[in-house]
Amino acid sequence: MDPFEYNANPGRVVFGKGSIQKLPDEIRRLGFKSPLILSTPQQVSQAEDLAKILTAASIEPAGTYTNATMHTPSHITEEAMAYIQSKAADCVVSIGGGSTTGLGKAISVRTGLHHICIPTTYAGSEMTPILGETQDGRKATRTDPKILPGTVIYDVDLTMTLPASLSATSGVNAIAHAVEALYAKNKNPIISLLALEGTKALAESLPEIIQNPQSQPAREKAQYGAWLCGVCLGSSSMALHHKLCHTLGGSFNLPHAETHTIVLPHALSYNAPAIPDAMEKLAAALPGSEGDAIKGLNILLEKLQVKRALKDFGMKEEDIDKAAEIAVSNQYPNPRKVEKEPIRELIRRAWAGEPAR
Ligand code: NAD
Repeated sequence: MDPFEYNANPGRVVFGKGSIQKLPDEIRRLGFKSPLILSTPQQVSQAEDLAKILTAASIEPAGTYTNATMHTPSHITEEAMAYIQSKAADCVVSIGGGSTTGLGKAISVRTGLHHICIPTTYAGSEMTPILGETQDGRKATRTDPKILPGTVIYDVDLTMTLPASLSATSGVNAIAHAVEALYAKNKNPIISLLALEGTKALAESLPEIIQNPQSQPAREKAQYGAWLCGVCLGSSSMALHHKLCHTLGGSFNLPHAETHTIVLPHALSYNAPAIPDAMEKLAAALPGSEGDAIKGLNILLEKLQVKRALKDFGMKEEDIDKAAEIAVSNQYPNPRKVEKEPIRELIRRAWAGEPAR
């Protein structure tokens, strides 16, 4: 066995249908009295439901801030900080996807307040000590153990309203975390176990969600998979796939989960010659792969009926060169050397929507 290092990220997880009702107990267990609730404008009703659960248990929320925004822009964080300072909150409760989790992290790391995170997508941010914040159009990412939410409550009921198409791309975004954990510079057998289990759970459940978005067992399995994949993201150094998506999202304003979904088979195909062991294990976790992980991924994406071309999201053909330039300008550990020409071809295929080979 290769030598390895393993660090467990601390954090409490409460998982299960209806577990949102345990929020008052979680707050009391920690000795808090005045939580500040966070959501996006689209999830105000879920934030209001939380406030009702708390009030019914004699916990008065300090306030509710419902302006969380994609990519954690600094002006929103400043507005939320001004709001929280006027409210004397003693902890923050975020309910939503990665955008709201990001705001909860931004507040928690600035104030030291305990962050109880209630995820409603499959992005996995709740399991990571990573925070991406945007200022003047530039997104900077930092990692700090203090960023990791202290408590996470997974309740499948909150994911039932996640549109099927968003479930698909958010779920593939989660699989991407697991895929890169399998060949990370700091990979280890514990995280690899979680990566394969998480991939399998999502690859089995996401097509069921597309067929029947109201299937609670499928939604619960997807949430379980997303949790494990989130742990992978929080514990592993990410490589080509995540760096490419970061470049494409940041430089060409492409949507986060959709970009991950399009790029993943291409990035995996690029690295495949350098990672035979990971490819074999991954194939075993993907239904229908017949030993070929790329085939398994292509089958999954077909079943999910997702868009396969970056040009469908507004990327221009002339941006391909620029993207390739940026992608090779920052060197980082990757199993296969990151070289301009093959990377340009990877991006071109993803742009055109040609299947990965
Ligand atoms: P999101 O949080 O932006 O949500 C997308 C939209 O769906 C929002 O309008 C949201 O209100 C809505 N929504 C969320 N859950 C819903 C539900 N159950 N029902 C109905 N509507 C719902 O999307 P996301 O993909 O979860 O997060 C993307 C953001 O998270 C990006 O900024 C990304 O960079 C970040 N992210 C960070 C990490 C990390 O570790 N730091 C990890 C993954 C993603």
